[in-house]
Amino acid sequence: AKVRELLHSRIRDVADYPKPGVMFKDITPLLADPEAFAALTGVLAGMCEKFGATKIVGLEARGFILGAPAAVQAGVGFIPVRKAGKLPGATLAQVYDLEYGSAEIEVHAEDLAPDDRVLVIDDVLATGGTAEASLQLIRRAGAQVAGMGVLLELGFLGGRVRLEPTLKDAPLEAL
Ligand code: 5GP
Repeated sequence: AKVRELLHSRIRDVADYPKPGVMFKDITPLLADPEAFAALTGVLAGMCEKFGATKIVGLEARGFILGAPAAVQAGVGFIPVRKAGKLPGATLAQVYDLEYGSAEIEVHAEDLAPDDRVLVIDDVLATGGTAEASLQLIRRAGAQVAGMGVLLELGFLGGRVRLEPTLKDAPLEAL
């Protein structure tokens, strides 16, 4: 409970960003506070161990910042899921819908093995579109989903419900 309070106190609400009517959750104050960042890393590494994950997948871009130190602390490999066109090797790609238009993400296919159990990490779960596409990529690669961990869940956007069919029995934890 104390850690949650610390983390919560280091998230800044920014009104009307990136467009009018949106309240953006800015995590940069948390990253700038070494005590809060270390606490978050510890909780995410603990989640990795608790779920029996063998790899952490981080979602571009803030999922890299949170996922990479957690992977080092937990002693597992880190795999980036990137926006299309950024990875040099053979990739698996997944297209998903945005409010206007669509987006595409990719992962290096050879980084995920069938016996891998993957913990997916991002900073914020909003509508769940990004997370859903990432989970689909992991399943298409033949790996198992150990769970999903996020710092913040914007519950009113319904991401958790959207992810249910893709997560199946894997847990979704929001700090
Ligand atoms: P979704 O696909 O769930 O609608 O959006 C999630 C993605 O958008 C995440 O990768 C997350 O980083 C970003 N995102 C959406 N809303 C916010 C927000 O309020 N704060 C931050 N930091 N990221 C957000």
